[in-house]
Amino acid sequence: MATSKRIVVTGGAGFLGSHLCERLVAEGHDVICLDNFFTSQKTNVLHLLDYNNFELIRHDVIQPIYLEVDEVYNLACPAAPGHYQYNPVKTTKTSVIGAINFLGMAKRCGAKILQASTSEVYGDPEVHPQPESYRGAVNTIGPRACYDEGKRVAETLFMDYRRMNGVDVRLVRIFNTYGPRMHPFDGRVVSNFIRQALAGEKITIFGDGLQTRSFCYRDDLVEGLVRMMNGPKDFPGPINLGNPDEYTMLELAEEIIRITGSSSKLTFEPLPEDDPTRRQPDITLARQVLDWEPTVSLTDGLTKTIEWFRTVDLEAFRPPTPNY
Ligand code: NAD
Ligand code: UDP
Repeated sequence: MATSKRIVVTGGAGFLGSHLCERLVAEGHDVICLDNFFTSQKTNVLHLLDYNNFELIRHDVIQPIYLEVDEVYNLACPAAPGHYQYNPVKTTKTSVIGAINFLGMAKRCGAKILQASTSEVYGDPEVHPQPESYRGAVNTIGPRACYDEGKRVAETLFMDYRRMNGVDVRLVRIFNTYGPRMHPFDGRVVSNFIRQALAGEKITIFGDGLQTRSFCYRDDLVEGLVRMMNGPKDFPGPINLGNPDEYTMLELAEEIIRITGSSSKLTFEPLPEDDPTRRQPDITLARQVLDWEPTVSLTDGLTKTIEWFRTVDLEAFRPPTPNY
């Protein structure tokens, strides 16, 4: 069995964080889940509280905290446009001050630290698919900038802590990921379409629906995160993790209608400002360095996600915390 490590997961109660915590607890590590529950709820990790190698701390990452750990997975940050635009100043603070606090912890403890960065660092890309070498086209003053620029500054901080202080950093650029336990009211395309299809409501296509995204199932993504943390020494990335299969939003809607057997019709609404027209990861590097690639098809992933949406009590999910 691998050596047990002390690991903190910031944003550990969220969609990806809770699955990552499950995985790390199952591997026998001593896991600290740290979250302020802005876009998540305790129910996501309730089942882990029975394990004596799991600990839950309510904490906001913009406040300092002193823990002794071997590894940090830094996931704390609202991820859905509706969530990160709820309080954009706080979103930037979470990315930037959160990064500084946990890089400081990694430096003090000699810990490895992985940053959940995003395909949004590429903005509305002029290069397709997007390799890690592409520097991006982000509107610094648009409504998505709080998230995109916050994540870009976090990447800068990670590389500066590496250069200045020798901190072992790992940068992962995550592309759209979905699956059970995603927030049903996060306003993202997969959750919206599934809820609408199951309720027989109209499916809201923003713009003409020809914009594309590449959707990765959460198990594939979590596997990639763990591989990157345990990847080659002196390999900070950045590395793209995502599923290269690319779909238009119209194709996604059709597939969700097909799987659910819904009679929902489409309705067209205005495209949000700065909405990227296309997005597809170039995962050559992840294949080469981590021997990683997604294994779950969109149909299989959506089927599992739809099953979960059918079984959960949607009333139990609350919108983002006020006063955040
Ligand atoms: P999520 O919203 O479910 O999880 C984020 C978690 O961070 C939540 O539990 C939230 O309560 C917590 N959080 C937010 N602000 C905080 C703060 N100030 N202090 C402490 N906790 C805070 O989203 P997710 O999809 O699980 O995303 C996890 C990470 O992955 C995020 O950093 C996100 O930017 C990144 N990411 C996700 C995707 C995706 O498609 N899901 C794509 C790119 C990047
Ligand atoms: N979208 C849509 N209908 C919805 C929600 C989103 O057509 O009800 C579109 C949105 O305009 C974008 C794509 O789906 O082009 C993905 O949006 P999402 O918010 O899921 O994530 P993004 O990749 O834009 O951060």
